[in-house]
Amino acid sequence: MKDRLSALYELQLIDNELDVLESQRGNLPQHVRDLDQKIAQISTSLQAKELERSESERKRIINTKEMERLDEAQKRYKSQLYTVRNNKEYDALTKSIDQAEEDISKREMENELLLDKEKNLVADIDNFKPGLDGFEQELKEKGTELTAIANLNEEQESFFRGKRAAIEPKVRKQDLAKYLQIRKAKSGKAVVTIKRNACSGCHNVIPANRQLEIRKMDHVYNCASCGRIIVPSEVAESVNKEALLA
Ligand SMILES: [Zn+2]
Repeated sequence: MKDRLSALYELQLIDNELDVLESQRGNLPQHVRDLDQKIAQISTSLQAKELERSESERKRIINTKEMERLDEAQKRYKSQLYTVRNNKEYDALTKSIDQAEEDISKREMENELLLDKEKNLVADIDNFKPGLDGFEQELKEKGTELTAIANLNEEQESFFRGKRAAIEPKVRKQDLAKYLQIRKAKSGKAVVTIKRNACSGCHNVIPANRQLEIRKMDHVYNCASCGRIIVPSEVAESVNKEALLA
């Protein structure tokens, strides 16, 4: 009977390790996805600002060229003023000169606004970039770290799977079925010990006479409150945990 209970207890210890590994592995991809998403958001925003800045610069260059052209035209019109033959020609020229003047000042004003906008965008980009660089660096480090954890996790998992495969045949079929059933119902913990006169699973006190019975090990006992399989401390202590889990 002691071997029967030990096998159950060992199985539980191995499954505890596998449960921890499984919950760790479950979180890893989500971590990486979150970080990736944050970087993508910052990058998109940065790209949009960069695009807006270059578009503004492009408009400003067009304006400057157009202003130069208008300036040349205006000079030409002004020189033509001296050679006009009639009032109609004179009026047409002064109108063109005024039009050019108006157009130039409109573009000048627009360029000032564009330049202000570009300055703000550059400041924004400069503010953002170190953050993004830092974040990318963090992701890179985190990624390496997570990959290492994932690899270690996988390694440990196959190690404990091996251990489990060696122990499982030692557990009686009926005990294993019960064990798996309780594990499912009690989110993992099916085999418990007695700690400070209580079930280590649900912490309900186990009466002294019941504890005595459990210690006798004449059959497999379940906690009257939570239904988990109770092994006496003698069994728990006889299992060499370090050897089992190392
Ligand atoms: Zn209990």
